[in-house]
Amino acid sequence: MGIMTIPGYIINLPDKLNLAPGKLLQSFVCKNVPQKLYIAPGENHAYMKLDVLAIGAHPDDVELGCAGVLLKEKKNGKKTGIVDLTAGELGTRGTAESRKAEAARATEILQLDARENLQMADGFFLNDRQHQLRLITAIRKYQPEVLFCNAPEDRHPDHGRGSKLIADAAFLSGLRKIETNENGIAQEAWRPKYVFHFIQDRFLQPNFVIDISEEFETKIEAVKAYATQFHNPALNEPQTYISTPDFLDSVVYRAKMLGKMIGVKYGEGFISEKMIGLRSLDDLIKNNT
Ligand SMILES: [Zn+2]
Repeated sequence: MGIMTIPGYIINLPDKLNLAPGKLLQSFVCKNVPQKLYIAPGENHAYMKLDVLAIGAHPDDVELGCAGVLLKEKKNGKKTGIVDLTAGELGTRGTAESRKAEAARATEILQLDARENLQMADGFFLNDRQHQLRLITAIRKYQPEVLFCNAPEDRHPDHGRGSKLIADAAFLSGLRKIETNENGIAQEAWRPKYVFHFIQDRFLQPNFVIDISEEFETKIEAVKAYATQFHNPALNEPQTYISTPDFLDSVVYRAKMLGKMIGVKYGEGFISEKMIGLRSLDDLIKNNT
């Protein structure tokens, strides 16, 4: 019998399964989140190998930062997922419970293959060995080729601190002498090929912009899934920096401004830890700017 592991579950597999690497073993729903299990290369256990993983300090960071690209990659047949560091329990409006339900709704809209919350302390998590090891375990579990994470510096201090924590863990995850396990099973070292920081509240000059014109409406739908956080005249909650109509307007303007920089309607911008290579000139958007 082989062993299949997913968070909180260990499932025995019959020996006679055709365990071709990358084969989709099972789709199911766990805690309202759709999950897919794939066979690991050279192993007879299954895991949720993702192509693209986005990690944010708070539920809604990823939706605001790179939901357009996640939707685009999903449309291209890639497997995508989100890991949230905290439940956003210090947010002025709503509760950790309402944020959880909102994240589940956004997960459906983005058609994610996996979403997980690491339950770190909102406002107080640190970039230390203990937190790095928890992130290394998550990165090794999902084995993403590309990792998106928070902006290197921003209005909310969790964003800059989270950004460094995630980027440090992405590097350390590739060191095989750092041992981690999931449900008692040793994990293999894994380093994402690219780490890209999305741009959040403060404008930072991106290194590149991706066209999300076709995905923009669905992105806004995913952002609005966080109904307690953003503008909602029906709610009797204190007004915050992000709950005014102006904030949602600024999300639209930002995407328009980034889109304009590359000659398309809407864009998402990213800062890369390393130089980006193009396979050919065909990848360029040849609109006038
Ligand atoms: Zn945030």
